[in-house]
Amino acid sequence: MKKILILSFALFLCQWSFAQEVTDDEYEEDETEMNDSLVVDTADTEDILADNYLEDFLHEVGYYFDTANVPAMESYDKWDMKKIHPYEQKIDSIADSTLLILTDGEDCFFHPPTAGSITSDFGIRRWGRRYKFHYGTDLKLTTGDPVYSIFDGVVRIAQYSKSYGYVVVVRHYNGLETIYAHFSKLLVVPGMSIRAGEPIGLGGSTGRSTGPHLHFEIRYKGVAFNAEKIIDFSTNTLKSDSVYVDMNLFDHIKEVKRINAAKYHKVKSGETLGHIARRYGTSVRAIQRLNGMRGTTIRAGKTIRVR
Ligand SMILES: [Zn+2]
Repeated sequence: MKKILILSFALFLCQWSFAQEVTDDEYEEDETEMNDSLVVDTADTEDILADNYLEDFLHEVGYYFDTANVPAMESYDKWDMKKIHPYEQKIDSIADSTLLILTDGEDCFFHPPTAGSITSDFGIRRWGRRYKFHYGTDLKLTTGDPVYSIFDGVVRIAQYSKSYGYVVVVRHYNGLETIYAHFSKLLVVPGMSIRAGEPIGLGGSTGRSTGPHLHFEIRYKGVAFNAEKIIDFSTNTLKSDSVYVDMNLFDHIKEVKRINAAKYHKVKSGETLGHIARRYGTSVRAIQRLNGMRGTTIRAGKTIRVR
């Protein structure tokens, strides 16, 4: 009963004002661990309700949240309602051919996040001379379009982040987590139980985004994999009712390692390709190949890839 009260109050707050920016803790190092044993205390609850301050309030909800209702708690070691990426899983330790049952076809369904087609794939993206890995699938939408949770689950995150904008993270009973980013408006609060196909936010272009779209990620124990491995976005259907968590699911990891190993150098005046090659223990030819250069002319101030 208390929880219902807390959540409906939070939803009420959410509707009249979520303009309040919650700080971006996406990459913060320190971690506030949840205490599972804390239970709701009446006096504390009254204090929270009197405080009338959304951020503190959601923080408290996080502390008092009963993790008994959290999906897939047996596979995850924590339930964090503040940090988008709280896990430190090593890929090798989770890719062990676990079979995840995605839907049971009876009372556990799939619903596409939005009807729009793919505008940018999961994979390597070029940013000028540099490469970055895009951990999501971008889907077309118009600002204000509803976005839906793809499976049943519980909302873990509903907040503002510098990069993701207004973002929702849902933990599903099948063990997966999904991330939906760049919303113009959030329709859920952390701790809310939702069904597949329920709207969780309205599409937009908040955060690091150049136009309205949905950035959609699927992760298992914090490690992203290509959503197209399980969803056919041309028909908006699940490709299979189950998926093996093995190295095939994470076959992009070697590409990530390759681009992470890349090294860059900002050319100083007077430097030649020969100087730079010697400094990084490589050859002029190799640098030319990495940068698609023919000649040996380099301009001071330019950044080139050396490894
Ligand atoms: Zn994206």
